[in-house]
Amino acid sequence: MSTERTLSIIKPDAMAKHIIGDIINRFEKNNLHVVAARMMHLSQSEAEQFYLVHHARPFYADLVSFMSSGPVLVMVLEGDDAIAKNRQIMGATNPKEALPGTIRADLAESIDHNAVHGSDAAETARHEIAFFFKPEELVG
Ligand code: GDP
Repeated sequence: MSTERTLSIIKPDAMAKHIIGDIINRFEKNNLHVVAARMMHLSQSEAEQFYLVHHARPFYADLVSFMSSGPVLVMVLEGDDAIAKNRQIMGATNPKEALPGTIRADLAESIDHNAVHGSDAAETARHEIAFFFKPEELVG
């Protein structure tokens, strides 16, 4: 196992439900530690850039609109196998397919309002962390 960092975003649906404590508690119980955090309201342009990889997908416009519809909490999580572990804790993209006990199964409504984002690979994690944070903003 190696120590990794990954980007996590608590999305506008979960922010509106006031469940950030529940979500962060699930990370901390699984030894994923928050080493950077910022609450922000993404502009449409920031959301477009962040999800650029999906620009050709039919859901891109809805995704950008949703992610810029309200505040989000952007975090860097650190721990052993943080990238895969975070994906496990999140559950499948579609909450209806997510395993019981995962964030998306327990706390999300639908594939487009699915509570959390998490980087899916090492290169993506590096890119996504650098999108939001300067190296000196990470502690620990
Ligand atoms: P993730 O890594 O599990 O978040 O999933 P992806 O990177 O594949 O997709 C990014 C986000 O786009 C997902 O979290 C969903 O909110 C949204 N999304 C993905 N696939 C679909 C889809 O088929 N329909 C809709 N409406 N949204 C989708």
